[in-house]
Amino acid sequence: MNSIYKGHPIIDTHAHLCDEQFNLDFTDVINRAEDVNIKTIIIPSTDYLSAIKSLELAEKYKILKVAIGIHPHEAKQFSEQEFEKIENLIPNKNIVAIGEIGLEYYYDFAPKDLQKNVFLEHLKLAKKYNLPTIIHTRDSIDDAIKIIEEFSLNADDKNLKGVFHCFGGNFEQATKLEKLGYMISYPGIVTFKNSPVLETVKQMDCKFMLETDSPYLAPIPLRGKRNEPANIIHTLKKIAEVCNKTENQIADETTLNASKLFNLKLN
Ligand SMILES: [Zn+2]
Repeated sequence: MNSIYKGHPIIDTHAHLCDEQFNLDFTDVINRAEDVNIKTIIIPSTDYLSAIKSLELAEKYKILKVAIGIHPHEAKQFSEQEFEKIENLIPNKNIVAIGEIGLEYYYDFAPKDLQKNVFLEHLKLAKKYNLPTIIHTRDSIDDAIKIIEEFSLNADDKNLKGVFHCFGGNFEQATKLEKLGYMISYPGIVTFKNSPVLETVKQMDCKFMLETDSPYLAPIPLRGKRNEPANIIHTLKKIAEVCNKTENQIADETTLNASKLFNLKLN
């Protein structure tokens, strides 16, 4: 194990490890993650079938936890039957969140109104089982915040929680989310040249979590390649630099944030 991370476990809060790009070397990918002291990897599902596959993987590899839901890219797949099948999975002990859900406005895979409805149904599901949500936004942060605000007002439980993953918003939006009980997380984009998120990273002073969004968004110096959880160390290093803290501090603070949100045991 890389000795500088010994005693300072890291959590990759977002890695699509059921992507077929991992079929050939899955165990190696897990071993490399463990080598850099990653303690937990959360796999967000995109639909029912990927939820099943993710849960099978989590049965085999103790490092894995799973989020279940219908990704906004797949919002057209939403039906009562599909949703019921997803809900029926919830008793599984490896499920830690509802996700990946949200709003995708950059690509036109599904009409906005449909996406908003599907998003709201998942928020209700998360509330019913007291689970956090993993939220995807693209060109849609303000709309997603609005839906959560309205839902929080209507829902009697004010402790709804979740994460806006791969957060591309500004400090004001991040602060608004914090007040609503939501976290944000950062992937390898923080390492990209002139990354627009660095200012917010600095201002948020570790009130966020780490993720890789594997197999996408590989950090520099691996940009363009297949991404995997072990590459989180490049993101960690860059954030330490930007926040003027040690890598161990960043690991500790982000891991604590993730363990609280997803109710993960650290030992
Ligand atoms: Zn994702």
